[in-house]
Amino acid sequence: MPDPRTPREVIDDLEARLRPLEIELAEAWWESNTRSSPQADERRIEAELARRSFLADAEMFQQLRSAQEEIHDAGPHDGRRLTILHDAFVAHQVPAELRRQIVELETAVESTFNNFRGKIDGERVDDNAISEILRTSAEIGERRAAWEASKQIGAQVADGIRELARLRNRAARDLGYRDHFAMALATSELDEDRLFATLADVGAATTGPFEEWKERLDAALAERFGCPVDDLRPWHLDDPFFQSPPGDGALSVDEFFAGADLESLTLRTYDGLGLDLRPVLEGSDLYARDGKSQHAFCIDIDRQGDVRVLCNVEASERWMDTMLHEFGHAIYDRESDRSLPWLLRGAAHPLTTEGIAMLMGRLARNPEWLVAVAGVDRATVDELAPALAEAQRAALLTFARWVLVMTNFERQLYADPDSDLDTLWWDLVERYQHVHRPDDRHAPDWAAKIHLAAAPVYYQNYLYGELFASQLDATLTERAGGLVDRPEAGELLVRDVFAPSASVRWDTLVERATGAPLSATHLARQLEH
Ligand SMILES: [Zn+2]
Repeated sequence: MPDPRTPREVIDDLEARLRPLEIELAEAWWESNTRSSPQADERRIEAELARRSFLADAEMFQQLRSAQEEIHDAGPHDGRRLTILHDAFVAHQVPAELRRQIVELETAVESTFNNFRGKIDGERVDDNAISEILRTSAEIGERRAAWEASKQIGAQVADGIRELARLRNRAARDLGYRDHFAMALATSELDEDRLFATLADVGAATTGPFEEWKERLDAALAERFGCPVDDLRPWHLDDPFFQSPPGDGALSVDEFFAGADLESLTLRTYDGLGLDLRPVLEGSDLYARDGKSQHAFCIDIDRQGDVRVLCNVEASERWMDTMLHEFGHAIYDRESDRSLPWLLRGAAHPLTTEGIAMLMGRLARNPEWLVAVAGVDRATVDELAPALAEAQRAALLTFARWVLVMTNFERQLYADPDSDLDTLWWDLVERYQHVHRPDDRHAPDWAAKIHLAAAPVYYQNYLYGELFASQLDATLTERAGGLVDRPEAGELLVRDVFAPSASVRWDTLVERATGAPLSATHLARQLEH
């Protein structure tokens, strides 16, 4: 029987039913990450399943498809709402049993990540302790033990992640996609050819500068540890994945944050833009403890103002960057236009909210910000300015090369989950990051990266986010004179990025906000000396 309802009635109905499911999931997700327990995991599985079985409903999907055919005379927002609903539904048109398997396995793997702590000499250590050793220790044996402790989780979850990839692929193939990687891009308004063309552009723009910088870094590390360059291994670096440069390759500004109140500095930063984040601070969970996620994220619970941040704050540059980053996500959600239909509130795309978060996180190394907000005296900052610029450049280079590893690895993970991923991982690390693999090591070091399990096919958004941040930075400099203590910049962000929310597609939004399509041009410009 034909559906007697208009397309808008179909959309309104689906939106009204999806909304409470999404809110319950967000609440359950928050609970399982802040107060880990079997009950919390249970609640989260139930919420995941409730949402997924709704999105898997074949009859409603059919109604959506019919609505798509009749949509032509609809209002301005209906087309966008329909696209968003369609993308959400299509990925879930999967048999119930397969769906249950995927949710249970995802939850089990993530729970392992939340509860597992690596060991050094039989002693449990958390991620902050590992990173402290890698940042400060001069003793190679200790560094190596810390690095290995950071990878021990890999062996616990590798089989689970391979199995997840197989299950996700089975679901994707049933729907006619090549594999989960292809489906995930297609249902998030990303084009695979364009993505890999952009990765190639980024690769081309970074190869020369990265090689030159990494050679200098290696020379400095060899000097610091008193060994030949050829003997350098991953544990000579500060970051277990080399996602960011070590103190020796760039300037560390940690000393400016020793004893600092990162909460106040974060509020002060946003106050300077005329943006108030106090309501978010109230509901947030910012300091480390047992049974809590060791990572950092921001979550919009209800698209109605209840936005929360999770961190494990310590007085360091890394956590300053992370706080500014997560509260960047938060302000985007808070300033989303709440008069829009519920489906269209929040970020236009993960890459646009990552872009804002990265733009804000970069301030932790911005000379103007260090003086105006962190209260470092001008003479010190002026003296450091060239080194700060070099540090920013090193951070961008290092991160871009790391994303090349992750995105290429993830494509292969789904192309063949049974292949020799342990070797592939180190091949990519050597090729893009120029980090020598450990000798005689055969371990699933890739599996220690939580995103492969918890945020599959998401990493490309961080790179696109960097590109957007660089492009937006140029726009703000041109139109508002910069970002620090410039309410005009805040106004521009609210008007051109936050408020439109998802009412326009991300590529249109970027072009409208910055005057040009998203490209690697501005990132490349920032890498020039
Ligand atoms: Zn983020």
